[in-house]
Amino acid sequence: MGINRREFIRIAGLSTLIGLGGKSAWEILAPGEVDAAIAEKPQALKATRWAMVIDMRKVDEQVAARCAQACHLVHNVPDLSHPMEAKDALPPEVAARQQLKWLWTEQFYNAFPGDEQEHLAEEVKAKPFMVLCNHCQNPPCVRVCPTKATFQREDGIVMMDMHRCIGCRFCMAGCPFSARSFNWRDPRPYIKDENKDYPTREIGVVEKCLFCVERLAVGLMPACVEASQGAMAFGDLNDPKSQVREWLRANFAIRRKPYLGTNPQVYYIV
Ligand code: SF4
Repeated sequence: MGINRREFIRIAGLSTLIGLGGKSAWEILAPGEVDAAIAEKPQALKATRWAMVIDMRKVDEQVAARCAQACHLVHNVPDLSHPMEAKDALPPEVAARQQLKWLWTEQFYNAFPGDEQEHLAEEVKAKPFMVLCNHCQNPPCVRVCPTKATFQREDGIVMMDMHRCIGCRFCMAGCPFSARSFNWRDPRPYIKDENKDYPTREIGVVEKCLFCVERLAVGLMPACVEASQGAMAFGDLNDPKSQVREWLRANFAIRRKPYLGTNPQVYYIV
């Protein structure tokens, strides 16, 4: 005996509610509870509006590679082109298409479309611009997430709760910076040196840079900032004495696609 579509949706909805002990998917964990899960130590770094400034005059291929590697190592970001076992090898085009990235590089015209200048210095054109989630002040990804798996903390960090992600990828469609990646397969066979202090993800969830909330909670700067050895600053945009404000006061900086109104919190000194 078959059931019609409406009946199927009703039964599926009921099963989900029973499975969650009568709570709706939206009530499992409130954003505040997720914050509490990232246990803050007394030495935690705090801000009212976290922001990052990247001084591109100090960034070359080596610096960019070091920052991306540090980020991906501490956060167990898989490298799909290098499986741990031969049986998990993927055709190169599949590995490239499905690659996950939290911090990567783009050339100027890809990073800053709409900022084209006819006589842009060759040196700037060739620079490897480090790009990542901009932790936008008005994040469209948060607005479109149906389960609140992605949400914004009071300090501006745009979070991602992998447990509440249902893999709909609305956030990926909503992000105009392609800052989010989707796990098309189990990432674990592609993580060589697993950091046991940071969770790995599962197939079917979206992930991205979280401004190293887990490091801020124990008083450490983001891994990329540390690895950059002075090419990146991170701090409170609302504090006039912070390093980010100092750098922005002293230098001309640009942001990605400012015309979209998302108000990115990552700045580039060019
Ligand atoms: Fe969301 Fe994309 Fe902005 Fe990050 S860069 S906050 S993912 S819209």
